[in-house]
Amino acid sequence: MNPKTGSLILVATPIGNLSDVSLRAIETLRQADYIAAEDTRHSGKLLKTYEISTKMISLHKFNETEKRAQLLHLMQNGSTIALISDAGTPGICDPGEDLVRACIEQNIAVRSVPGANAALTALVVSGFATSPFSFYGFLPKKRAERLTLLKTIADISHTTLFYESPHRLLDTLSMIEETIPRRRICLCRELTKLHEEITRDTAANILASYEKKTVKGEIVLVIEGACLVEQTLTLPEAKALVEEYIQTGMTKNEAIKEVCRRYQIHRQSLYRTLTSD
Ligand code: SAM
Repeated sequence: MNPKTGSLILVATPIGNLSDVSLRAIETLRQADYIAAEDTRHSGKLLKTYEISTKMISLHKFNETEKRAQLLHLMQNGSTIALISDAGTPGICDPGEDLVRACIEQNIAVRSVPGANAALTALVVSGFATSPFSFYGFLPKKRAERLTLLKTIADISHTTLFYESPHRLLDTLSMIEETIPRRRICLCRELTKLHEEITRDTAANILASYEKKTVKGEIVLVIEGACLVEQTLTLPEAKALVEEYIQTGMTKNEAIKEVCRRYQIHRQSLYRTLTSD
């Protein structure tokens, strides 16, 4: 690595509450040669609050390709660039991923000043198992693709989470009601903000509570992993049902598969439980 080469520093900024910024983030933003920001006007408020006067360069998804070349050139010539997004951790559903890869390819050091992130904030308050978990970013806008993904999520035995727009929330909740009906979900709206709302319930109940209300704000949805839970079916009930299906001529595997499909139970966990006796 050329000693004169600069570096890229990914700096996390608040997801709502302006106080959620680290001392190191403020220092890094003050000391950087440039701040690459998704929306310079939006980030201007943060910089003003913390008296940061570093020059900003705009980097958003519409100019990412052309600005990347300019930023790489600056870093190759010794500049330190701090990258921030409108909220949270840059690179997570925000510009940054491609720039990080380009820096690595060009032997430019990449560092991170960690901080707020909406997905992890939602995961830890959900009360669902925190590891392992899967994060899907935004669900596809097209209904058919969203439905296919939700059907896949229905079989996943660990916690899954994704970002959702307020305009699609009710439609997505009704799709979850259809594909993952009994499972608990945690809807996190406006995290860290004045009107923060955290609701843990089934999709059907959350949908009912939103009837006649306009959904506003930023949202993360967390879905509990598929497992054999008391609210769904107790183990003796599951065993009895499997036996019932076997009596109708199904094989044990077919019976387990059918019980899992009907009751949204994770297949491997029921299979393991019933075959370990
Ligand atoms: N980079 C950000 C991060 O680290 O979380 C995410 C950026 S992504 C473009 C914006 C989405 O994140 C929003 O549409 C929403 O789904 C989620 N989000 C951001 N802030 C949030 C908040 N305060 N409460 C709930 N969700 C939030």
